[in-house]
Amino acid sequence: MISEKSVFLKARKEESLLRKHPWVFSGAIKRLEGSPVTGDLVAVHANKGRLLGYGHYSHNTSIAVRMLSFEESSLDQDWWNSRIGQAVGIRRDLGLLVGEGQNICRLVHAEGDGLSGLIIDYYDRIAVVQTHSVGMHLELKRITVALNQALPELVGIYNKSAKVLRKSGADHDLDGFIHGNEPSDWSPKERGRSFIIDLEQGQKTGFFIDQRENRTLLSSLAKGRSVLNVFSYTGGFSVAALQGGATKACSLDSSSRALELAQAAVDQNAFLTGDHENIEADAMEYLKGGVADFDIVVLDPPAFAKSASARHQAIQGYKRINQRAIQSMKPGGLLFTFSCSQAVDDRLFTHTIIAAAIQSNRTVRIIHRLHQPADHPVSAFHPEGAYLKGLVLRID
Ligand code: SAH
Repeated sequence: MISEKSVFLKARKEESLLRKHPWVFSGAIKRLEGSPVTGDLVAVHANKGRLLGYGHYSHNTSIAVRMLSFEESSLDQDWWNSRIGQAVGIRRDLGLLVGEGQNICRLVHAEGDGLSGLIIDYYDRIAVVQTHSVGMHLELKRITVALNQALPELVGIYNKSAKVLRKSGADHDLDGFIHGNEPSDWSPKERGRSFIIDLEQGQKTGFFIDQRENRTLLSSLAKGRSVLNVFSYTGGFSVAALQGGATKACSLDSSSRALELAQAAVDQNAFLTGDHENIEADAMEYLKGGVADFDIVVLDPPAFAKSASARHQAIQGYKRINQRAIQSMKPGGLLFTFSCSQAVDDRLFTHTIIAAAIQSNRTVRIIHRLHQPADHPVSAFHPEGAYLKGLVLRID
């Protein structure tokens, strides 16, 4: 027995847990025992008492328990070392941790790595930890020990949880280094491209690692082309385009800070020869003027649907920006278009883009279907984890 605190489910509400789906919704709970409070580790039982596993409890959120284990186990330091060690080992096997021009990857992808509520990203010897639940936040010490054991090359661990935890009203610690510091020769790189990671003010953990392989695809198609990178953030796709020999890349974002870092990243990759230009603008407004000046356009907006209830409005948003781009593209142009909304699945996204294509009255071919990369795995028991979708369209 590792927890005196328990959650008992209503009759027949254990089925998804028996299939190892890691979320218990508040509506499935019949009663609590031992007065668990937000952040506690609880044992979860079926209605008749059968132990189903253990997870982090949260009062007042629709996901009431985020499961960590589906068996009788003590979630001690050894357990954390083993689970985080396995996640790190997978990335090491994939060659994403250390390599020529490659030291940025996701180390822990929440449910995809059996650690609901935990994201850890790796930027050249620095791990950035983002805890999405109070329970996970309270495990920071164990996470730190496990990371140091799994990654002897680690020089610093940065906690970047304040913003996501604020929503839970938790009394969280401030962001900052919880172990070590930034190495003086810190140089985060993805597939030969250097980037500037703003740990303090950057969005998410500082960078959108999930687009790595899609940026590499763009790089392979960019030679001699001009590229418009809409929703550029710190210039990920722009640097990739220039790496591939684009004559020009334009980064468009509403954040001046992100654009500053995009230009700095271009300058830092001294081997790049094409031109780079920043456009600080609202994407919706800019797209009204069309994109006929460019051979390739990237549309990688923030999640328009943050929940299922926002889905309908989100679809309208995706349709509108894509239609504006498709109808004004040069013949022979390529459109890289994405959605990172979990509530909009692959099928719905594809249908939305097809609807935009029909209304644009152009000849449109789907030439690539894109997803999140291997370091953002999807648990077979949690298909909701597949959040990033993209299409490359050729427009004539
Ligand atoms: N493509 C990027 C990640 C995009 S994140 C990469 O590869 O790293 C989404 C970006 O959209 C953020 O930088 C945010 O500042 C920007 N953004 C959000 N709303 C916007 C709007 N209405 N117009 C322009 N940019 C916007």
